[in-house]
Formats: sequence, structure tokens, C-alpha cells
Amino acid sequence: MEIHTIGSSSTGNCHKIDDSQTALLIECGLPFKKILSGLNYDTSDIHGCIISHAHGDHCEAINEVIAESIPCFASTGEISLMRAKNLFKKDYSDSRLVTIVAGKQFKVGTFTIKPFNVSHSTPEPLGFYIKSNHTNERLVYLCDTSYSKYIFPGLDYIMVECNYDETMVENNEQLNKKAKEHILTGHFGLQNVKDFLEANDLSRVKCIHLLHLSSRHSDAEKFKKEIQEEFGKPVIIAPK
Ligand SMILES: [Zn+2]
Ligand SMILES: [Zn+2]
Repeated sequence: MEIHTIGSSSTGNCHKIDDSQTALLIECGLPFKKILSGLNYDTSDIHGCIISHAHGDHCEAINEVIAESIPCFASTGEISLMRAKNLFKKDYSDSRLVTIVAGKQFKVGTFTIKPFNVSHSTPEPLGFYIKSNHTNERLVYLCDTSYSKYIFPGLDYIMVECNYDETMVENNEQLNKKAKEHILTGHFGLQNVKDFLEANDLSRVKCIHLLHLSSRHSDAEKFKKEIQEEFGKPVIIAPK
């Protein structure tokens, strides 16, 4: 499976995964121009776009993506929030804007996708456990959540948010208690990422992608070095 990050930060997220039979977008939270250029101006191989939640940095380009005949998938709660934010330029049919439910797996081409609940500040955010039936590989995608209540068997690839270093947030004197709480409860920090990796069987894991690094409270080199050393797996810092 190939993983290509077009953008990953609080200003925008979009990844393409491809098992050579099916290609999927995870999130479309960038200006569509940027997504197009990340895809070399060719969307013809993209079979769908799965969206974790209704924040703009994860779904900004949803109208343009649907206009390219790429169905978008999100939970009822997040679609309702997108509607409440007047994000949709049209009323889309169920086949273009598809409702998905935590715990209920669905297929897009050769991928079987099982969404699961995560913890964030929106109504019904999701993470994704994805299996390629072509390569027999498994991937987990977890972003904009403070922790994971699940573990995932047989993983080959891990895409996990590593937003901040807890001590950098604690030591930031410009933040009041409430602002600190907001960061610490809605996003994955370095220690939680380590706990998550510790809890999972990493024996098959080929690569760990760290996503959505904060511009103020992260240290990409430190994150990469510590996780590589502690878990003995290659680490890629997703490009902003
Ligand atoms: Zn985000
Ligand atoms: Zn968010």
C-alpha cells in the first residue's frame, strides 16, 4: 500500500492511499487547488474520500471532491454539523455523500473500511481501520482525538496524530488553563501516541506516520527520533 500525504496540520489535511487497485483520499481539508496539485491533476483513479469530522481542516474541499464524481463518506453527526455550517453548495444524493456508522464496515473497491469512534470536540468523529483485500495489508488512521479506546490487530501501517509534546503545552505561559485543556483533551500528544503504540502489536508494522503536528508545541525531529528508538520502526513525519 502506498501512502501519500498532500497536507497534514491544523491548516489542512489530505492523504491518498493506494493499493494499486483502489485509491482513496483520507480527508479533503485543503483548498481544492492544493489537493489537485498533490494528485498531479488526475483524480480519475480516486474511488472515494473518507472524512473523520466536520472541521474545515478535514473537509474544506468536499463540494469540489464530490463534483469530481468522488463519493465522500462521513458520519451522520458530522454531516449534520457540515450542513449546519452551510458547507454544502447543493443537496447531495446518498450515493455522493454517504453516511457511515462506527463499527459498521463498508467496502470501496478493494478496501474494507471499519470506522470507529474517537474523542474530539465535534458530534460524531471517526477513525478508520482499513484493510486492502488486494495486498492483505491493514492500516489505522487516527487524527484529532486525545486517545484511542481500541487496539487494532495485524497492522502494517499506522497513521496517527502526534500534535504536541505535553511538556511544551504545560510550559507555554501564554496559554491559560482552559486553552491548555482544549489542546490536551482534543488531540493526540506524544505520550499518548507512545501509550497507543505500546498497546498494539507492532510486529508487522512497516511504517508509522505521525500526523497533524502543532506549529507551536511540537518538535518533529524529537518525535521521530524518540518513536523510532523506542519502537524500532521507521517513522515518517507527515509534511505540513
Ligand atoms: Zn484537525
Ligand atoms: Zn478537528
